[in-house]
Amino acid sequence: MMGSSLIQQRPHAQAHDESRLDAIAIIEKKRDGLALTDEEIRFFVNDFTEGRIPDYQAAALLMAVFVNSMSKRETATLTLAMAESGETLDLSGVIGFALDKHSSGGVGDKTSLVVLPLVVSCGAPVAKMSGRGLSYSGGTLDKMESISGFNVSLTKAEFINQVQKHGIVLCGQTANLAPADSKFYALRDVTGTVPSKPLIASSIMSKKIAGGAHGIVLDVKMGQGAFMQTLEDARELAQIMIDIGKAHGRKVTALISDMNQPLGHAVGNALEVKEAIETLHGRGPADFVEHCVVVAGHMLRLAGKSKSNDLSDIRSLLESKLTNGEAWSVFRTLVEAQGGDIRDIEDPGRLPSAPVVVDIPSPRAGYLAAVDARDIGIAALELGAGRHKKDDPVDHAVGLIIHHKVGDIIKVGEPLFTVHARTRAAADQATLQALAAHQWTEQIGLPVFYDTLFSE
Ligand code: URA
Repeated sequence: MMGSSLIQQRPHAQAHDESRLDAIAIIEKKRDGLALTDEEIRFFVNDFTEGRIPDYQAAALLMAVFVNSMSKRETATLTLAMAESGETLDLSGVIGFALDKHSSGGVGDKTSLVVLPLVVSCGAPVAKMSGRGLSYSGGTLDKMESISGFNVSLTKAEFINQVQKHGIVLCGQTANLAPADSKFYALRDVTGTVPSKPLIASSIMSKKIAGGAHGIVLDVKMGQGAFMQTLEDARELAQIMIDIGKAHGRKVTALISDMNQPLGHAVGNALEVKEAIETLHGRGPADFVEHCVVVAGHMLRLAGKSKSNDLSDIRSLLESKLTNGEAWSVFRTLVEAQGGDIRDIEDPGRLPSAPVVVDIPSPRAGYLAAVDARDIGIAALELGAGRHKKDDPVDHAVGLIIHHKVGDIIKVGEPLFTVHARTRAAADQATLQALAAHQWTEQIGLPVFYDTLFSE
């Protein structure tokens, strides 16, 4: 498969011998499709975390894992090694039952911004560690940093104090919680190694285990804009994570949600914060509201506040918290507790805004057949909403508003999307990409006749 005669072989035995564990031998072993021992995985994670293994070797191992995958045992060991690469939290004595949620990454996925306050407004505390944007999918931390002053780097003591005091905390894993994941995550983002089941599972579950969550809802995205493109892959990823969670005594529910088109309308950091604020005032897009209600409902079910798998006993409570201002009030508390400027969320016009804003009309009429979430995510990335290199700054102001959902009927000239860009040239480029992401059809559903062919 890999032209082995051209590959200079070093004996794999070097990787087996604990006294001579060696990063190159471990990379070569995985490159050649062999399983790593628990010692090798732990050694690599520890030495990479402590800076003894450089980024380029870690990148090589990530690519080898991407290509050759990992067994269940290897993935479980990798997860635990990453979880134990820094401090771990035990929240048992702090809050009775700590809830968390995590998305496998999507486009327009601002779910945490709404779900966390929503769950807390229903009486269950949430202590969450989030990530940054990865490849073309956005990250909660980047979004929250659109709010001036919002601090995502909390120490262990700050994390605990805040959840005790306010019942809600949202931070990155920089506070020495699963530091191996931060390092791997940043490298994966820029080495084409994101959509790998063992790497996603270990990344997500190491943070969940280190963060001390007792109940975890996993939002596994599936479709064009997700790292898992098929239902089968999404199910497999979900099951790997459930098994890891169970092995560590955590209650886990995995939802598999659609990511063929962007979630809601907004894609881009500050634009998504604005949409989340609208949603917390009861004015969110229908698909996004439904998504948030279901994710929040399953979190509350894990906490024992719902007894039904279909959430019928809690749905109206959740919906009311979005319209009566209670979830919004918790969001304000979160922002204030972490140093964010409340004026930015009370008056979202103060959030970063792009100098070039262009409305693009629909070039044709018909039903919208597709809005490719991946293409829209890439357009937002190119505008500057995400990173090409791991230390790139993100532009909080830029992104797109996608006005229509699949199935909508659209007239020629009706607004199709709006581009928020730094320059006119960037807006033009994003326009081409976003137009190509839209597809139309003459009718919805399956036609009775496909064509008419004549002899004369
Ligand atoms: N979210 C994470 O935390 N890690 C991944 O690898 C993907 C999504």
